[in-house]
Amino acid sequence: MIGQKLSKEEKERYKELAVEKNGVDNTQKFTNTGESIASVQKKIQDQKAWKCQMMENIQFLCKTDGQCRNFLIMKTNQSLEEDSYETGFGNSGGQCWPSELAIGVCNLTRGFVPKSCYADLVDTKNFPLGTRSKVQDSVQETGLPFPGSELFQSQHSDYDRILRNLKKFIQDYIGEDEKYKKTGLCVFVYPQFLHHTKSCIDWLLKNSKGSDKGTLEEFFYPLKYYSVGQLVLGLATEAAALNPRYGNRLITETYAMELLQRGSYNYVTEINCDFHKQPANQDKMSWCAKNIVIRTVKLLFDEFVPAFQIPQIEQHELESLTFKIPESKPRPITRSFQSENNDNSGSTANIVQDPVPGFSGLSISNPGPDGIFSEQDFPDALGDAAGWTTATSKKNGRRGKGN
Ligand SMILES: [Zn+2]
Repeated sequence: MIGQKLSKEEKERYKELAVEKNGVDNTQKFTNTGESIASVQKKIQDQKAWKCQMMENIQFLCKTDGQCRNFLIMKTNQSLEEDSYETGFGNSGGQCWPSELAIGVCNLTRGFVPKSCYADLVDTKNFPLGTRSKVQDSVQETGLPFPGSELFQSQHSDYDRILRNLKKFIQDYIGEDEKYKKTGLCVFVYPQFLHHTKSCIDWLLKNSKGSDKGTLEEFFYPLKYYSVGQLVLGLATEAAALNPRYGNRLITETYAMELLQRGSYNYVTEINCDFHKQPANQDKMSWCAKNIVIRTVKLLFDEFVPAFQIPQIEQHELESLTFKIPESKPRPITRSFQSENNDNSGSTANIVQDPVPGFSGLSISNPGPDGIFSEQDFPDALGDAAGWTTATSKKNGRRGKGN
């Protein structure tokens, strides 16, 4: 029982609290799963405090102060989520067995930078008895190899290597940041995957065998997993305070989630991980952790680079990641798009006519009246070339609306 984990002093304190509140001794009352009401109350209090702290931290991180703020976005896939159990307080979520992970950095000013994403596969080798069919289902869904499959390489079961890479990535981007020193290190995850991500990292830690296991645990256990939806809210609130035109829109959680769902517009093969890049696995690319991370970062660029009136540069485009750009000379994005895709549709021709220098004025001078893109700007996943067209015409549509 959870109550047993409390120290003596804590137990006494919550006992007092429980008695005070209702005038009855809740420490002697139990839920139907055998947990004392007092310990359930403590959990509710803890959760409330955690949420307050999270919102405070995110607000603090989103404050503009002339620095290039880095936000880390993370996504994991698992081959199995073990059965969860009821705690009397809610669902605890079962242990996840990781199969893929990716982490990317979103820096609104710099855009995509080299090595702005780390992605890896995880071969757990095994899975618990009696879960084979569950594992088979999820493997079929994600297209990822079956645990222990020869499609994995030996490095994929080197959990210490994976954790070290992950740790290095986090440290490189936010480890020395004064703001994160104050809030603690945190990564942003889609709210529906918070448990999965945390649990996948826990699995890796449990199975790490290196001499630095202790150091890795010390690093990862205090790591905070925050909702990327809350990050959107934090950024939107800050942008609205700075930019009245952006502030016209209603900033709610629904708005944040709606914004994040726009990610379906460009499933670009080139941003897959090495595994999902292979032709045989491309039909599962919507599951690719790297693809999801990069698309999320791109969504944040599309929304917040104009909102914060940050100059638009080529590194804000997916093309800067997928095609080689000569470093010194900025390249007109739409024109090269035309030359790299033989199958030009009519809509592409329209885009090409659009003057590229307009990019500098794209952001603030011409946001749409409502700031919201129309449905047709986001058709469902299309082929490669169409994906590019859609990505480009979205910008175009946005610019056009205000004119
Ligand atoms: Zn992948």
